Amino acid sequence: MTDIASNIRSVKTALPPGVKLVAVSKAKSPAEILEAYNAGQRCFGENRVMELAGKKDVLPPDIEWHLIGHLQTNKVKYLVPFISMIESVDSFRLLKIIDNEASKVNRVISCLLQIHIAEEETKFGFTMDELYAMLENADLYKLRNVNICGVMGMATFTGNREQIRNEFRYLSKCFNDVRNTYFRDNENFKEISMGMSGDYEIAVEEGSTIVRIGSLIFGAPVKNNKQHT
Ligand SMILES: *Cc1c(COP(=O)(O)O)cnc(C)c1O
Repeated sequence: MTDIASNIRSVKTALPPGVKLVAVSKAKSPAEILEAYNAGQRCFGENRVMELAGKKDVLPPDIEWHLIGHLQTNKVKYLVPFISMIESVDSFRLLKIIDNEASKVNRVISCLLQIHIAEEETKFGFTMDELYAMLENADLYKLRNVNICGVMGMATFTGNREQIRNEFRYLSKCFNDVRNTYFRDNENFKEISMGMSGDYEIAVEEGSTIVRIGSLIFGAPVKNNKQHT
């Protein structure tokens, strides 16, 4: 068994049933992704649209791709024909553009609302004010080609485990509040994507349903792990 295959197996064993693993393959080669695929992994996360568009053409068509990085509106059209989920929706404007582009290819795209929970200002995501302004806008509920499935967030990059836990707990609370108020009758709104290699155990304890794990699977942390398109 290769390292990648055995890493996949140990991460999967550590996850409770019902928590989905997104293998974050940004900056990894198609050969490395194929190793994970051959170990049974089907869902992969990428943060750059053009890198993803290039890779998916040389990899098996049953891979489920998630976009996890900041998405520029002019790149949406490249993504909508094949993407399984856009986890990094961070503005109402972007959501409307995804809806419009998806309608042109006759697809309904699963989306998560990325919420800014970290203390760093550099991380993308809705502020609470932006989020509630969108949720209170009736236009949101007219979009037919996006399926809003829940929320996503990234904790602060810190060694302070209590702070990370508090940020994840806040995201869980936010998810529950939004679901109870705006998506009570929508069974699709059920996902909380939080947790990466360094903090996924805390995230799972705080209610994560999707974890996004890169370096624990593919080894050496990638140099550029900022969010980009
Ligand atoms: C890179 C990245 C991850 C994975 O990070 P690791 O620490 O390598 O597990 C998860 N989520 C997002 C949004 C990322 O950009």
